[in-house]
Amino acid sequence: MADFNSNMQKLGTVRSVIRETFEYGNKRAKEIGRENVFDYSLGNPSVSPPEIVDKKISELVSVENTVSVHGYTSAQGAEDTRIAIADDINSRFSAGITKDDIYITCGAAASLTVTLNALVCPGDEIMVIAPFFPEYRVFAETAGAKVVIVPADLENFQINFSEMEKLVTANTKAVIINTPNNPTGAVFSKETIKMMCELLENKQKEFNKKIFLISDEPYRELVYDDIELPYLTNCYNNTIVCYSYSKSLSLPGERIGYIVVSNKIDCHNDIYAAVCGAGRALGFVCAPSMMQKVIKDCVGKTADVSIYRKNRDLLYNALTDYGYECVHPDGAFYLFVKSLDEDANTFCLKARDYELLLVPSDSFGCKGYIRLSYCVSTEMIEKSLPAFKKLIESYK
Ligand code: PLP
Repeated sequence: MADFNSNMQKLGTVRSVIRETFEYGNKRAKEIGRENVFDYSLGNPSVSPPEIVDKKISELVSVENTVSVHGYTSAQGAEDTRIAIADDINSRFSAGITKDDIYITCGAAASLTVTLNALVCPGDEIMVIAPFFPEYRVFAETAGAKVVIVPADLENFQINFSEMEKLVTANTKAVIINTPNNPTGAVFSKETIKMMCELLENKQKEFNKKIFLISDEPYRELVYDDIELPYLTNCYNNTIVCYSYSKSLSLPGERIGYIVVSNKIDCHNDIYAAVCGAGRALGFVCAPSMMQKVIKDCVGKTADVSIYRKNRDLLYNALTDYGYECVHPDGAFYLFVKSLDEDANTFCLKARDYELLLVPSDSFGCKGYIRLSYCVSTEMIEKSLPAFKKLIESYK
């Protein structure tokens, strides 16, 4: 009889390559000084939350009796916050969402875990579109699903529909999409979304079953050009949105976000109950209550994302000018650059010679690229450009 669950032990022992790179950066910073290390590994926002967030926190903790500030809320989240979130979504997307469709929880990670546990039954498959956030595999497999990967569309990082068409089967329970995307920065076009919804509608008819669309959207507000990102519940009835304030309000450590179960799903009440049940089973009830109070008054606000846009332009223009290949990123805060070595791991090791800390793409389900998180200071980017130039020159 084992003393512990070896799957969990493995997950807790093997660091993700992103974390490993970040830790290497910390070690290097001690050796040569933080200012000489160009760490593009983590997607930790570098812009402060909007002032109203800190103001609201100060107000909340300066009342005489803070018991209610820190107390439990309803398991699915405080009613007034759920109303504020629904109103915000409806004012921007006319989506007809109500408080009874919303489950507030600890960021996108909890939203995804809860949603997957609410849906997955034995034998189910969860489809992901490469390249994808590596934790999807952990979340889906832990929920008991088999992960099916749609290979990347290497031209534009939209969706490889001919492959997707072949891979959706009677076992497909849900497809996870992420737009704007980590790791590519690509934003799905309206045409891509329309084609994807049509494909899923057709497959639902063919297999006479529901196929859910799980829209993981922590980067929804981080779109830099004039690109309209449709709200997915308006495009496809069987949609569940997993949202997080980690990036839009720069609150990743506060663990706050929500799930929207579209009320257009015909068994909405059962699915919403399953979400509440999964939240209960996994211990994700009552998201941090002070943050729920903050969110009530900060919905619709964002950190100053223009800084990310400036960083994107600076980095994208310089790198493509030096000869790196990269699809234009329209959102999030990542660049996905073609590796100069066939093996991106080798390339990332060489980049370390120039103190550039980059993440190889293998764990994103798409080999041969590197990811750069440009949610860093603009000064660091400026200082790192000569290193990128030297790196590409070393290959000529
Ligand atoms: N999904 C994607 C695509 C992400 O990039 C991240 C975090 O970087 C998450 C989910 C998890 O977000 P959160 O910090 O809100 O749990």
